[in-house]
Amino acid sequence: MRIARSFSELRTLLPRPGSCPLWLVPTMGALHDGHGALIDQAKSEGGFVAVSIFVNPLQFAPGEDLDRYPRTEAEDLAFLDKRGADLVFLPSPGEMVPKSARIRISSGRIGTIYCGASRPGHFDGVLTIVLKLFHLFSPDVALFGEKDRQQLFLIQEMVRDLALPIRVLGLPTIREPDGLAMSSRNRYLSPKERDTAAHFPELMGEAARLWAEHSGHPSKDPLSIPGWLSEALVRAGFRVDYVALADRQTFLPITGGPAPDQAYLLAAVFVGSTRLIDNLDLSAERPGV
Ligand code: AMP
Repeated sequence: MRIARSFSELRTLLPRPGSCPLWLVPTMGALHDGHGALIDQAKSEGGFVAVSIFVNPLQFAPGEDLDRYPRTEAEDLAFLDKRGADLVFLPSPGEMVPKSARIRISSGRIGTIYCGASRPGHFDGVLTIVLKLFHLFSPDVALFGEKDRQQLFLIQEMVRDLALPIRVLGLPTIREPDGLAMSSRNRYLSPKERDTAAHFPELMGEAARLWAEHSGHPSKDPLSIPGWLSEALVRAGFRVDYVALADRQTFLPITGGPAPDQAYLLAAVFVGSTRLIDNLDLSAERPGV
């Protein structure tokens, strides 16, 4: 496995342009099987598999967990080597985000709602660094997780709006046996908080079942489900950041009118000081669909 720590090293270690398909998996490290699934998918397609590890300071607001975000380089390198990655890129913060850099990608309206409402500037920071990685690698395909559904939507929107010659693939969320979505932040949870956290996917699943039950039922209102879920999450011990229904095509919030066939259920909660996110594709959750 090749290791590049600077832009110039990366240039010498990347395959010659056009010599083989280049697959890029951008990460912030503290790797787990959710990241592993993205790498496995890239590997299974053949081609050259590159992984970047960069804890992006631009996507953390002041007061967030930038300083305590887990950094586990030695374990990550062993994980990637075992998984068969061809190249890992570990750039320095100074090169990725020079002090003089003022230019930012604007994520637009969708970047200001859901996670963007409580994390101002988060998605501008994500897109700025993802675009920089796209320029550095010129990948044929870039892989992202559906766990970060809003991020995936915005990256797809950026690629489309800026006509970037890159295919963006989203892969399903990998979960722990009890349903909790794998996340680098799960390691912040105390054993008691971890027990509470298991109720998050359980209640999301219950909400999806209610959605299926309410949809097509003349006297029931599927749009009441975010309210139901918020209350259930609070009762289970979470502090709710947001629960929302998003239109699957536009990603805009669904707040009124007839419930559409295709929607995402999105939620973010705090367990203690740890923020967890999850989402379900309600069209996929519908029995028989
Ligand atoms: P992160 O290191 O958290 O920035 O994540 C890097 C990439 O891995 C992003 O595209 C995430 O959406 C994806 N990812 C993180 N957790 C999971 C998971 N549990 N299942 C699938 N993909 C994931």
